[in-house]
Amino acid sequence: MRAVDIIARKRDGMVLSAEEIEFLIQGFNLGTIPDYQISAWLMAVVWRGMQRQETVDLTMAIVRSGQQLDLQDVAPFVVDKHSTGGVGDKTTLVVAPLAAAAGLKVGKISGRGLGFTGGTLDKLEAIPGFRVNLTAAEFRAQLQSLGLVVVAQSAELAPADGKIYALRDATATVNSPPLIASSVMSKKIASGANGIVLDVKAGRGAFMETRENAAQLAGLMVEIGESLGRKVRAIIADMSQPLGCAVGNALELVEAIDTLHGRGPEDFRRHCLALTSQMLLLAGQAADETEALARLEQLLDGGQALAKFRAWVAAQGGDLSVIDDPALLPRAEFVYELKAPHSGYIAALDPREIGLASMLLGGGRSKKGDQIDHSVGIVLQAKIGDYVNHGQPLLTIHANDEGKLASAQQRLLAAYEWSDQPVSRPPLIYQVLPE
Ligand code: URA
Repeated sequence: MRAVDIIARKRDGMVLSAEEIEFLIQGFNLGTIPDYQISAWLMAVVWRGMQRQETVDLTMAIVRSGQQLDLQDVAPFVVDKHSTGGVGDKTTLVVAPLAAAAGLKVGKISGRGLGFTGGTLDKLEAIPGFRVNLTAAEFRAQLQSLGLVVVAQSAELAPADGKIYALRDATATVNSPPLIASSVMSKKIASGANGIVLDVKAGRGAFMETRENAAQLAGLMVEIGESLGRKVRAIIADMSQPLGCAVGNALELVEAIDTLHGRGPEDFRRHCLALTSQMLLLAGQAADETEALARLEQLLDGGQALAKFRAWVAAQGGDLSVIDDPALLPRAEFVYELKAPHSGYIAALDPREIGLASMLLGGGRSKKGDQIDHSVGIVLQAKIGDYVNHGQPLLTIHANDEGKLASAQQRLLAAYEWSDQPVSRPPLIYQVLPE
């Protein structure tokens, strides 16, 4: 087999065999197939798509690039959640310790920022010392002792996903249902999850802009998971504006800590509670959603979820002093308040522009391997449906470079649409699958 022939077949819209997909993925993982050939193939997949069986084969090829953990001896039912990516999506930082505080075993492989969306690993690394690169043995041991562990792909766990993910981020090949589905599901299968709750985002701040496309992606992932013997549930969640108020790594961490203190923005808190309740239901740990939510609210407001978060940070080598006093986290040099250019209701708040602004401030990568500035980003003071008066603050920009700050201001002002009439707030969750 030759990589160039497989690329040409996908370019021409053909269906690839399991052997061809395996050849490409293992070749890339072992370094015998170079970045440029995989990049070309990824672009062909974006344009031509993949059939369901090809997507399952791709998922399993990525899983086989590393170990597949069997955690039966450590935890009989491991639950995981995974977001398809959004702006201000710091959900794992709250949901993982909340679910673990409720007694679930949460073992998870997370990703880095992708395109205009942020990544959990980058947010966790805003905590000095936090180690995301654990070995499979460390993963297993921490899951057993703490019931909670979150790691990056490693040479052992879904290594091909880590490599493909970095290439996709730099080659505009993120936005493809089979690539997203195989990336997400391979991590879940490799890390031994028995139950998976998918947080599939729909809107301008997500890779799937419409509810219909998000529901299709969700359906594809549910099918892949179920065909591989996993229990899967997917929620289709709104991403027509950022989730919560903070966008940017350390800023999002602060908002997550605030939420773990029982405070935080209402939409973000409700989203976390809804997702975690689906995890409890999937694991058979609650009779219904009302019971699940009541228990989870107690754990959040009573400090148990925060205590779990502290124990998690400590277990992965993070500096607890920044958790106890978030003012110690890295801070940007310039903090600028963007004011409303006139009075009115906020009718739209383009999350993609906000994600891009944060990325261009230094909070994300423009090319593979770029260093991230954890301190920069944006904090919204008002969201869709809010009325603001002329001159009232819309958001604050946290920057370390005056030039980047100036271009972020332009971009951010253009992200708003205004109305003189009241505007209804978008729902948080559109649908739960399977229905
Ligand atoms: N999250 C992932 O893990 N992979 C994707 O491709 C998108 C979001």
